[in-house]
This record gives sequence, C-alpha cells and structure tokens, in this order.
Amino acid sequence: MTAPSSMETALAPEDIRAALDGLLERRTDQTRLTSMGAGSDDLDDGRAYLAATVDGGWHVPTWPAAHGGRGASVAENQLIGSVLREYVVPDLYPFAIGLGMVGPALLAHGTAQQQDRWLRPIASGAEIWCQMFSEPEAGSDLANVALSAERDGEVWRLGGQKTWTSRAMWAEWGICLARTDPAQPKHKGLTMFVVAMDAPGVEVRPLRQMNNDAHFSEVFIDGAEVPDSWRVGDVGEGWRVAMTILSHERAGAGSRGGGDGARRGARVPPWIADLVALGALGTRSDNALSDTTPADTALMDTARRDEAMSIYAADMASRWTAQRAADEARSGGSPGPAGSGAKLRTVSSYKRRAFLTNRAAGAAGMLEDGPGHIETVTAPSMSIRGGTDEIQRNILGERVLGLPGEPRLDRDVPWRDSRKGLL
Ligand SMILES: Cc1cc2nc3c(=O)[nH]c(=O)nc-3n(C[C@H](O)[C@H](O)[C@H](O)COP(=O)(O)OP(=O)(O)OC[C@H]3O[C@@H](n4cnc5c(N)ncnc54)[C@H](O)[C@@H]3O)c2cc1C
Repeated sequence: MTAPSSMETALAPEDIRAALDGLLERRTDQTRLTSMGAGSDDLDDGRAYLAATVDGGWHVPTWPAAHGGRGASVAENQLIGSVLREYVVPDLYPFAIGLGMVGPALLAHGTAQQQDRWLRPIASGAEIWCQMFSEPEAGSDLANVALSAERDGEVWRLGGQKTWTSRAMWAEWGICLARTDPAQPKHKGLTMFVVAMDAPGVEVRPLRQMNNDAHFSEVFIDGAEVPDSWRVGDVGEGWRVAMTILSHERAGAGSRGGGDGARRGARVPPWIADLVALGALGTRSDNALSDTTPADTALMDTARRDEAMSIYAADMASRWTAQRAADEARSGGSPGPAGSGAKLRTVSSYKRRAFLTNRAAGAAGMLEDGPGHIETVTAPSMSIRGGTDEIQRNILGERVLGLPGEPRLDRDVPWRDSRKGLL
C-alpha cells in the first residue's frame, strides 16, 4: 500500500467526531471564547484541552505521532481543523509560542534529542514557552540583537536584556536569539538557544498593558548558563532559525487555536450575534442604543449593517488565506511573505470588529466589561506584535511586488562597528 499523498485523506469527518466527542464539548451558539489572550489569564482550560487531545494528535496533527501529532497529511490537517471548530477549543494564547512557533522550528532545525525532550510537553500543554527576540534596541531591526552568548567549554554564558517577552512569567522555556560573534555583520553573528526560565541569572519582570493584562515582561539575563546541547541550529545560523519562527508566527495569527471563530455551520458568527443582541443592526424593534429620530437610527443601522457585512467578507478571506499559509508551513515549507499578508488582514478584521461593536454600544462601551471594550484596547497591540504593519508592508513590497529594497547600510559591516552611530 502506498502512503497517502499530501492532498489525500483516509480520515472521514465522522471518524474525527467519534474520537473528539469523548474528549471535548461541542460548541453551541452561546459559546463565547476570548482570543489572543485579550482579558484572559486562563491556563487551566488550555492545559486540559491539550492534555485531552495529545494522545490522538488532534491539535498538531502534522507533527510525528511520537511527538504529540499523528503524522497527518495537509488534507487531513485541514479536515481535522474544520471539524475542531465544532468543539470548544479554549483560547490557547499561553501555549501559542510552543505550539505555533517553537514546535515547527524544532522540527525544522532541532536535533533528535531536542525534539524528544521538548515537543511532546508542548503538544500536551505540560510546558509553556516564550520567545525572547525583542530588545530595547532591536524590534523592527531585529538583527540588531545585542544580548551576548560566550562559549565556555560545553556551556554558553548569556548576558543582556530582552523586552516585550509575552508569557515569560508562565514559561518553563524561552527561545532566545543571542549574539555570538560581534565581528560578523549583524545577521551573521547570531545563534539561537533554549533558556530555562528558572535558571540562576534569569530575572523576569512583568509589564502591564493598557488592556490591564500583564502578559509580557522584561527579562534580564546575567551570566545564565546554557548547555551547548540546547543550541538550536548551527553557531551563526540564528537568523535562519529566527526567520522560520517569525514566518510561522505571522502565518499562525488568526488560524487554528480556539478564540472567536464561528462554530462550523452556525448561521451567524458570535460577534454579529452580539451586535444583533445589542440592537445595533436594526434587528430589534426596541433599539435601546439611540435617542435620535427614527430616520437617523435607520441610517446608522444601515451603515453598521454594511460595515458588518464588509468585515465578515474580509474576515472569511483572511481566515482562508491564513489557513493556507499555515498549511503550507505545516506541509514542510515556510509560509514566507504569505504570512505577512495574512497577518495584515487578520489584524484589520480584528480591529474593525472591535471598533464596530464598541462604538455601537455607545457609553456602555467605555466600561471595562462593556461590549467590545477589551478588544478595542487590545487592538493597537495587534499591529505591533509579531512585527509591525509597516514591516509586513515592507516585506510584501520587496518580496511579492519586487519593489526596490530599503537602504541597508549596515548589512555587510561588522555588527560591533555598526553600533558606533556611524551607520
Ligand atoms: C502585545 C505584544 C507582545 C509582544 N510579544 C513579544 C514576544 O513575545 N517576544 C518578542 O521578542 N517580542 C514581542 N513583542 C515585541 C514586538 O515584536 C516589537 O514591539 C515589534 O517588533 C516592534 O518593535 P519596537 O517596539 O522596537 O518598535 P520599533 O522597531 O522601534 O518601531 C517604531 C515604529 O517605527 C516603525 N518602523 C521601524 N522600522 C521601520 C521601517 N524599516 N520601515 C517603516 N517603518 C518602520 C514601526 O513600524 C513602528 O511604527 C511584542 C509586542 C507587543 C505589542
């Protein structure tokens, strides 16, 4: 018997439902879930969901069975993803770096020992990961990372500061981009390491965001030791590993993983149902939102209905494109610039949904638990995390449209010289 090709599947939706019915609750029209960690610190639900699904390999189907997946083809992965939308999949924000970014990077660049040690605890939710890339002087210009790693026999000693490290206070492990050779040009002297977040010399200081979450932290590292066996990829190959991680981050934004997606087959998605319940779309005769004349109210209802339908159409296109990019990545390729387009569309949909709901709620929308409030104050961060909108547009301009690249004066000079303010 030959193995199924990437677009064939031996699985039927009923097989998947038969397995998942014993493990998960079905979604109903009343099911409401947060997304991207907005307003939620819920670790337990995510952990319980991942622990329940790991033996069948249902959440990361394309990973090998030995590591918490089921070796699924692209087609099987898509099918499982669509059936999973019928079930309550909690907001997996705390686990997303392990599942969506570190896992694929370890599969692409990790050693067999690293895969054996780290992949299954990611898939089962037993261990949380954070991503230690950004620094005070390295955000959009990520290759300017200064945190140093110096080799001392079989260990590396790390020193420096990371910032905006989401989930660092929950994380057992951090994937950390460090400078191992300051004499090389900035992209070439970097190496990727795994850091134990409870190691001596690692200090995590949480920061509070304007949506009142404290999901991200500053991380100060002073002489923390990392065994050479925890280096991911070759010395000097950190940029390549970082690009794998970032392309998965961008492609993954908005695809599988609970959140606010509509239940499959549901007549309207929950956010539109919420607008209807608010009376914001002219669908309730006792519209309590407005003290204007009936003619004005009708006009506002029409404008909101237009906006809601326009968001819905863009949202569906965004979901399918994000899913395609994520599937490309899972089938062995890298999502590449498609991930940047997917991220821009996902962010735009998220913002428009949040603002429409929040504005429609009027004064009530200013309350912390008012309709669309948490999403509205979370929305600006969506344009920054994972690389800003401007950087995504630069990537699309250069790699999809073939426009001239930005001037990069420091690309070929030693990093330590480029930091003297000359370039
Ligand atoms: C909620 C949240 C979570 C985050 N989580 C993590 C995490 O877990 N791990 C991690 O490592 N980082 C994380 N970050 C950091 C994030 O990746 C950076 O904030 C982002 O890359 C931007 O870097 P910066 O903040 O240094 O801004 P800067 O790079 O200083 O940019 C400032 C402004 O200049 C613009 N700009 C900069 N360069 C260009 C250019 N070449 N062309 C056009 N415009 C440009 C930017 O678009 C931006 O508007 C997180 C950020 C947020 C908001």
